[in-house]
Amino acid sequence: MEEQIIEKLKIAELKGRGGAAYPTWMKWNLVKEAKGEKKYVVCNASEGEPGVFKDKYILEHYPEEVINGMQLAMETVGAEEAYIFLNKEYFELFGDKLKKIIGHLNIKLFKKQGGYLSGEETTLINELEWKRPEPRLKPPYPVTSGLFGYPTLVNNVETFYCASKIVKDEYKKTRFYSISGDAENVGVFELPEDWPIKKILEETKNWPQTEFFVQVDGGASGKIFLNNELECSAQGNGAIIIYDLAKTDLKALMKKWAEFFVKNNCDKCVPCREGAFRLREMLEKDAWNNEVAEEVFFAMEQTAFCPLGKSIPGPFKTLLEKIWKIKK
Ligand code: SF4
Repeated sequence: MEEQIIEKLKIAELKGRGGAAYPTWMKWNLVKEAKGEKKYVVCNASEGEPGVFKDKYILEHYPEEVINGMQLAMETVGAEEAYIFLNKEYFELFGDKLKKIIGHLNIKLFKKQGGYLSGEETTLINELEWKRPEPRLKPPYPVTSGLFGYPTLVNNVETFYCASKIVKDEYKKTRFYSISGDAENVGVFELPEDWPIKKILEETKNWPQTEFFVQVDGGASGKIFLNNELECSAQGNGAIIIYDLAKTDLKALMKKWAEFFVKNNCDKCVPCREGAFRLREMLEKDAWNNEVAEEVFFAMEQTAFCPLGKSIPGPFKTLLEKIWKIKK
């Protein structure tokens, strides 16, 4: 039975929907094969980046599928215990409903502030152990040494939802897109995963009538795309944020990102902590300097400890390359 489930995940080509897009069947198989007296399954329900709210939608509309996906994961990898890590807002909103669905299953709810940093799975595990919310050095990876040192499967809400659908033969290769910003129809839409962003915006009646650009994969770390670059599909967490070109104050937008990263980095390493601070400082003092910014970006990309720090330059660099010149 376990082999059949993993085979179904493999055929469906499901990749993690939290952002890292790691093949789900491989992760489940690694935890299944790992040696350990105990194993854990963890559902990450702590989404905290601006413009990303599809897991909230799934918890509201399809909580049974999420719990079923977790139960299937527990059976497949051989875990007797599981946790759902909910940020405070989601715990208040969905905690009671989830408890009813969970019933006698050994799945516990865990409430903590959560947020952007908790998207990184070793940070999430540290938080579950009531340790400082910061990433661990990898390897070892959680699949062999995760929660309390035991093999641990961490997937996000949408991944468990999809796993449930796949095992029931109801999966239609769709994904959930959070669309926001200067959009006519802000919301979450379940549509084919291979649709180009252009088609997604058209079909959801969100294609703006004025010149615009979009940020894909999160309203802080997502990269910028021009409106003539939207033949590609949305990767990562499926967030699309629309910006009206004429109305958007680019410096204010970059300042918002910098403030977010100053607040939402874990302070562990210098390039990310100081880099985010310096970017914000230049914007606050209206002293933006592209050469200095390039050096900060280089240091972050090359030396930040975890993917969160390495991803900070992405939105700034793509905005400066593509939009800055147009508006200047
Ligand atoms: S890159 Fe940022 S989030 Fe990651 S360890 Fe360093 S300070 Fe923490």
